[in-house]
Amino acid sequence: MTDASGPDARVAASVAGRERWQPAVIAAIVPLTPAVVSVRLRPQHTRPFLAGQHVDVRLTAEDGYRAQRSYSVASAPDEGDTIELVIERLDDGEVSTYFHDSAAPGDTVEIAGPHASYFVWRPGVDGSVLLAAGGSGVAPFLSMVRQRARLADPTPMLLLYSARTWGDVIARDELLAHERRQSGFTACFCLTRDVTRRSSDFARRVDQAVIDDMLARLGGTPTHTFVCGANTFVGAIADLLLAAGVPAGSVRTERYGGD
Ligand SMILES: Cc1cc2nc3c(=O)[nH]c(=O)nc-3n(C[C@H](O)[C@H](O)[C@H](O)COP(=O)(O)OP(=O)(O)OC[C@H]3O[C@@H](n4cnc5c(N)ncnc54)[C@H](O)[C@@H]3O)c2cc1C
Repeated sequence: MTDASGPDARVAASVAGRERWQPAVIAAIVPLTPAVVSVRLRPQHTRPFLAGQHVDVRLTAEDGYRAQRSYSVASAPDEGDTIELVIERLDDGEVSTYFHDSAAPGDTVEIAGPHASYFVWRPGVDGSVLLAAGGSGVAPFLSMVRQRARLADPTPMLLLYSARTWGDVIARDELLAHERRQSGFTACFCLTRDVTRRSSDFARRVDQAVIDDMLARLGGTPTHTFVCGANTFVGAIADLLLAAGVPAGSVRTERYGGD
């Protein structure tokens, strides 16, 4: 049964306004790792959203030149009047370098959305959830993990997170704290250029054995699987999931671009 006053209804009700650009003031910029900053935006109008959705960010130069990129919302729905983005620096990037090198609290950008998308997690669904993140692809999953914690949702959820080093794991301490405090949430870090700090993590790229291990930890095939990151990461993980017998229809992917 659908709850007409629930989050989906409120999101649907504001869809008409989503395509419109609105100003958003940068409330805070905080480094999370050597290559990633947290950018907290205060939009003029707060729009409800679902964990996993993204916004479009538009920058306009003094000469009128515009650049626009998409960023997942990392904060949980209903957190307040700000949203958090988690932005990785690409050295030759146009928009990500703005947030790393030039932007300051008090500056204004424009945002549209959060956009309706199939890449959303709704609390209270039955079954288990596997989240597979490559690098900054963890951003939408932070929103999901945070919402699960806020609501004390019992859905079994496992985050498989591939990062280069222990120091590159975005929100690492927070994820470890969620794991300690919440029953049913587990994080597994796959470090591609570092040693592991925990026996439950891996010091290699995600491979078939890692995927098989994740399914075993979840007690079988997950009901819902989300994969997010650069193109090659998403493609590789999707292939491994299918090879492990995960039905294609239960896998949702979000590709950030790049290799
Ligand atoms: C739905 C969606 C959500 C996204 N959410 C996030 C997010 O939460 N955090 C985040 O950091 N990024 C996110 N991205 C990627 C983001 O939109 C930009 O593509 C990224 O910030 C690069 O923009 P740029 O202007 O700095 O680089 P550009 O000037 O666009 O590109 C510079 C160079 O980097 C390459 N490149 C572009 N994107 C990537 C990439 N993802 N990985 C590696 N190389 C790349 C380009 O091919 C080019 O060679 C998301 C993308 C999508 C589609």
